Amino acid sequence: MGITSIVVYSEADAHSLPVRLADKAVCIGPPPSSSSYLKMENLISAAVLSGADAVHPGVGFLSENANFAREVEKAGLIWIGPHPDTIARMGDKVQAKLTAKQYGVPVIPGLEGSVEDPEAAKKAADEMGYPVIIKAASGGGGKGMRIVRDPEDFIGTLRIASSEAQASFNDGTVYLEKYLENPRHVEIQILGDSHGNVVHLGERDCSCQENHQKLVEESPSTVVTPEMRKNMGEDAVRLFKGLEYCGAGTIEFLVTEGAYYFMEVNARVQVEHPVTEMVTGVDIIMEQIRVASGLELGIRQENVRLDGYAVECRVNAKAPGKISDYLPPGGYGVRVESFLYNGYSVSPFYDSMVAKVICYAQTRDEGLDRMNRVLDELILVGIPTNIDIQKKIINSKIFRSGEYGTDVLTHILAEED
Ligand code: ADP
Repeated sequence: MGITSIVVYSEADAHSLPVRLADKAVCIGPPPSSSSYLKMENLISAAVLSGADAVHPGVGFLSENANFAREVEKAGLIWIGPHPDTIARMGDKVQAKLTAKQYGVPVIPGLEGSVEDPEAAKKAADEMGYPVIIKAASGGGGKGMRIVRDPEDFIGTLRIASSEAQASFNDGTVYLEKYLENPRHVEIQILGDSHGNVVHLGERDCSCQENHQKLVEESPSTVVTPEMRKNMGEDAVRLFKGLEYCGAGTIEFLVTEGAYYFMEVNARVQVEHPVTEMVTGVDIIMEQIRVASGLELGIRQENVRLDGYAVECRVNAKAPGKISDYLPPGGYGVRVESFLYNGYSVSPFYDSMVAKVICYAQTRDEGLDRMNRVLDELILVGIPTNIDIQKKIINSKIFRSGEYGTDVLTHILAEED
């Protein structure tokens, strides 16, 4: 796009690949994220002093923080993301659910609004039937969720969930919904611009999870019929048009027994967006930058074509350490995104994900065969990773069958023993 890139980094990331590749790099503080990547004033001064026009917040840290988005705009910079008020509205999951419902999107059955009175919440749980799930209104990253199977445990678990939410998210507000057994996690990618255009780019299936965190993502989903895709897409577009959404965002659903239910909105780009880029040919990051600069989306709904199959495996480090050998695989339909190189030291400070391996093919079987070959060829020596688990998933009968739910990993690991 001909745009100069400026990257910020903490002292722990001084030798990271983005720092080496960017046009300019600015250090914003010591390793702990509270002193660097989460320190708004450092980020804003780095942007202003380096002469930046806009801020792309990435996928983690402050990327869904409405206050940070406001600070960025106050400093006269462009925020590459939706309006701060939209982030705030969707960041509160209770509000988000109410808003989705208001726009006619089916939501996960549960107690409407947040839990105010424990006894009333227990009554609601008894009525909807167990299991139920208690979730933090400000939660994220698979954290702040507690399942209750026995009515006797409800009040105690509610208390624990609320204090955990307070400790982790500085907000003890929790809400209550029906716990769906072994559902599918299916999400729709959305793009919107400041001219009122909103398009959806089909779904990603992220059912393969570990502790409620995504491990493998694919598109299309084996459970989404053309009719369901159309309905989900239309629901998503209606909601995002209502929000006057500008930028990239995702609407997450749980699917069970042929029905889908709204779970939450992620008002940012997600880790797994390459899967959608591969099947649609749309560069989501480029569209984010285009619409943030006031341009119209480069694509109309009628021109969106879902072609072929794509899958992403997240490669996670199980411990920090020095990379003694790294060689990413290649070939047709293979995409690897990573900050690793020979001799790089993976720090203990941040998220454990060190690489994303994405494969594209015409069919699911071909794509998974390609992923198997690529994971075999990926050389990553020096730190323990989950590549062996990813290979097991990709080659397991249950994953290959396309008939599974969010507890698929438990089945795969049990088959082993
Ligand atoms: P986070 O924002 O922390 O990722 P989500 O609300 O997106 O949390 O939920 C993450 C995962 O937790 C889902 O993909 C699903 O596996 C599980 N989950 C959340 N709510 C429910 C529910 N009501 N029933 C069953 N599983 C759920």
